[in-house]
Amino acid sequence: MGWRFEYRPYVPVAQRRAAAAREVAKRTKNGATVSPVRIAGRAIASTFWGKAWCTNLEGYSDFENRIPRGRTYVRNGSVVDLKIEQGRITALVSGSELYEIRIDIDPLPKAQWLALKTHCAGKIGTLVELLQGKLSNAVMETVTDRKQGLFPKPTEIKMRCSCPDYAGMCKHVAAAMYGVGNRLDSSPELLFKLRAVDHLELIEQAIPSTPTKGKGKNAAPTIATSDLGAIFGIELGDTPVAKTEPKKLTKPTAKKAITKATKPKKPLVPKISKRAPIPKKG
Ligand SMILES: [Zn+2]
Repeated sequence: MGWRFEYRPYVPVAQRRAAAAREVAKRTKNGATVSPVRIAGRAIASTFWGKAWCTNLEGYSDFENRIPRGRTYVRNGSVVDLKIEQGRITALVSGSELYEIRIDIDPLPKAQWLALKTHCAGKIGTLVELLQGKLSNAVMETVTDRKQGLFPKPTEIKMRCSCPDYAGMCKHVAAAMYGVGNRLDSSPELLFKLRAVDHLELIEQAIPSTPTKGKGKNAAPTIATSDLGAIFGIELGDTPVAKTEPKKLTKPTAKKAITKATKPKKPLVPKISKRAPIPKKG
């Protein structure tokens, strides 16, 4: 490490984690849920949509100097909460403190979506194929196209972070952006939600208009979204599902941290004066 002007003392990762866990516990007390980003293996993202998201980010010269600094952060579990909604990404990233990140993403322009649907018409067989990225090369090129595809361009992204170092894209924002790539591994449909488009329309376009003759089973053009979890659970095996984990994992950690930090080391059995009777309690 070279000389740098640091305004705050270096805070070890373990200490940062404990502080973040306490802060998160505070927030989840009122019923809020957190969805941390956990990177299981080496790769931040390992499916088509997740990888394509990261590749897209890394491809813009606007970001190329800044985005890499988010990699370490997202890998070491600093993104303690990440939520993707329509047009918005929010995150809590643990740095010297816990920082709040908000990233606004413009909706996909209507004309662009229409063009995409036309391009993909009849080329995407099922919803599962779409979400798993089992697409023909032509479709893949279309949806990942830098200008006409689904991913947001730098001009369509507005980023904010509560950290004091914030300038353009800090490492916290970069970590959150990588976190999105990871999240798309388990929930690829969130990309469409983020861009405010209905991914089912890509499939509907693809269904030949002769369903009247089709019988029962084969006529069903799409699969209910509720079934996807099950399908992905089987297909994707060890892909972490963030939704259910956070409470389990963050709370005990937080408690532990608090107990350690606040409980003074005292003998377990305090000296009780001779006469004081211990009142019986139910
Ligand atoms: Zn920041």
